[in-house]
Amino acid sequence: MSPEREEMLCKPNLNLFPNATIVDGRYFWGFECLDGWYDLLNNALSLVSARCEIAPDCEPVTVLEVKEKFGGLRIYYRGGDDYVCGVFNLAEVMSVNICAICGSRVGNRRMHYHHPRCDLHYES
Ligand SMILES: [Zn+2]
Repeated sequence: MSPEREEMLCKPNLNLFPNATIVDGRYFWGFECLDGWYDLLNNALSLVSARCEIAPDCEPVTVLEVKEKFGGLRIYYRGGDDYVCGVFNLAEVMSVNICAICGSRVGNRRMHYHHPRCDLHYES
């Protein structure tokens, strides 16, 4: 994840990333995936962050690891409730049809190569 995007994911959701640090003047946590999944992560993290604030029975969420595995987004975390689980599951499932480099929609035919890439980024 580029430093700009990394900060845009961390900074509004610091409750989810207690280990975030400042690197070169920007918030950094360590997302192990490319910028193509930024929107997906941004939306999922916003929903989970809001959930933690408004739902009294929702356990505080700590995100442990975010990476690409077998061509899909993986979000490892602690805490939460069924809602949080559902949001993160949806983000993971949706990621397989989103180019991890640019965010374009990817057809299913790309998946047996284990990396979601659009036609433009398929070779890179
Ligand atoms: Zn692409």
